[in-house]
Amino acid sequence: MTDKERYEKLKYERKNVCRDMPEDEKKAMLELAEDYRIFLDRGKTERECVKEAVRLAEENGFVSFDQKPSLSAGDRVYMLNRGKNIMLCVIGSEDIEAGLNIVGAHIDSPRLDLKQNPLYESDGLALFKTHYYGGIKKYQWTAIPLALHGVVYKKNGERIDICIGENDDDPVFCVTDLLPHLAKDQMTKPMTDGIEGEALNILVGGIGAKAEDVPEAVKFNILNILNISYDITEADFLSAEIEVVPAFRARNVGLDNGFIGAYGQDDRVCAYTALRSIFEIAAPKKTAVCLLVDKEEIGSVGNTGMLSRFFDMAVAELAAKLRGSCDMLTFNRIIRNSACLSSDVGAAFDPNYPSVAEKNNAAFAGGGMVLMKYTGSRGKSGASDASAEFVHEICSILDKNGVIWQTSELGKVDQGGGGTIAMYVANLNMDVIDCGVPVLSMHSPFEITAKGDIYMAYKAYLAFYNDRQ
Ligand code: MN
Ligand code: MN
Repeated sequence: MTDKERYEKLKYERKNVCRDMPEDEKKAMLELAEDYRIFLDRGKTERECVKEAVRLAEENGFVSFDQKPSLSAGDRVYMLNRGKNIMLCVIGSEDIEAGLNIVGAHIDSPRLDLKQNPLYESDGLALFKTHYYGGIKKYQWTAIPLALHGVVYKKNGERIDICIGENDDDPVFCVTDLLPHLAKDQMTKPMTDGIEGEALNILVGGIGAKAEDVPEAVKFNILNILNISYDITEADFLSAEIEVVPAFRARNVGLDNGFIGAYGQDDRVCAYTALRSIFEIAAPKKTAVCLLVDKEEIGSVGNTGMLSRFFDMAVAELAAKLRGSCDMLTFNRIIRNSACLSSDVGAAFDPNYPSVAEKNNAAFAGGGMVLMKYTGSRGKSGASDASAEFVHEICSILDKNGVIWQTSELGKVDQGGGGTIAMYVANLNMDVIDCGVPVLSMHSPFEITAKGDIYMAYKAYLAFYNDRQ
């Protein structure tokens, strides 16, 4: 063996999905990407993602947990939480006390939410006030077409589902920005202050109603339109939940069509691949669980986030239906014997911004599914740091199943950082590791993922469900 050969043998070599994957898998990779694009267009909010997850789950033989008087191996059920959070399970042949194989992703994404009293008129324009949700760069939300998605409840309790801006003949909305000609002051501000939170107001109208003794004719006209179209009044907004999201659809990106560009890929890329993999599980040994949670982008808080006890309660319900009852000891054993892939996106190395990354420990778009031993920031603060034992167990499963994967951390040391649901899962006393898809332009209205990485995430979750003992 020459020195060069020996060196090649000893060193770690990064892979590239499209270069290194078997030729016969490429068709499956492209088909998955096409199905994923449809999922993205149908699910731009957590509610819509849950609805689409249920529709797909029922197509794949899942039924509501409440419909099943009893459960046995091979059964496929889903449990809902307030229409924003869902847990899907395929019951394993082993006793549930042997633990669950869980893939957990989040289905909320950064966006603008309408305030509770949103509508106002100013200088001949009607606008909606918003409060942003999650970590956004505010300037990215100006001067792009936006759509409204959400629910409004009328006085009589009737629920109205709102979706305006997605059909080609729908109007869209936007946050206006200042023309460069007059932006001398704005352009010299730090980017954090260039667009202020209270300036993220959505333009919704400009035609005044012909009306006598009405001081706000444009607002009056908008209220009339809303009343005729949806039978709602201004007071109905007070209890409504309306999200403002980019109006454009998921697209292929690049002359080689190598990428998907879309809103909300953090973390619907992992939610979709997790769903697709659990749909393919037929008779697992350990019960397979796909958990899609809300509120990750604001700290996993609230009754639909990972910190909610929904997950614990759902596991206890599952165990009770399988065994007749679930005492604390049984519950604890289930959790202790379970393992979780916290499936969330990572930052892909961006050649436009090389200085924020440390290349030896960065993820590259197209480099495969990304495994992140820890997240956090400034000395791993706020991180769930997966143990060597668990990382090794997962890596072995990935390698055995031909998954192309890479490791990374989020940026170079002290550059910033972030968290996922992993630390909250870890707190339950469960092994957990972050793994998912590298993303370019994360948290922007148009996030980019590589099709090869999407496919490898799907393969990884499937391998985990099938092979983790
Ligand atoms: Mn995420
Ligand atoms: Mn995020």
